Amino acid sequence: MRYYTLNNGIRSRIHRRPRRGQKGLCGGRGSYRRGLVAKDGTILGRGHNMRVQKGSATLHAEMSALENSGRLPASAYEGATMYTTLSPCDMCTGACILYKVKRVVVGENKNFMGGEEYLLNRGKEVVVLDNKECKELMEKFIKEKPELW
Ligand SMILES: [Zn+2]
Repeated sequence: MRYYTLNNGIRSRIHRRPRRGQKGLCGGRGSYRRGLVAKDGTILGRGHNMRVQKGSATLHAEMSALENSGRLPASAYEGATMYTTLSPCDMCTGACILYKVKRVVVGENKNFMGGEEYLLNRGKEVVVLDNKECKELMEKFIKEKPELW
């Protein structure tokens, strides 16, 4: 897997301390997996895994971020960046390609490796942070709630 250097803008988005009432990319209560789609410094949508809360088969963090961005034209996502706690699964990888997201920033891919090679093959930029906090939280989640994993 290729790893990319982060520019300061991306780094600050991932590591920015959440404001009161907001949730960071990693951690927080309710869900360990978060997603955020942003373009030109504007957050289009934030989300977190809602499969249990909504009884949904499809509301992964990335899908939730897209869902919460509302009904935007496809062009709104073109060139955007998807930030996600964990490597995106095949479904979320496909959604990023469908909406022409330019870059996917992954918190960690040790607990799960998704469609990163496919994204690269489709000309997308993949940034793997190998973030310690994301890894530890996912390990904890998998260990404590294997039935939900
Ligand atoms: Zn997914």
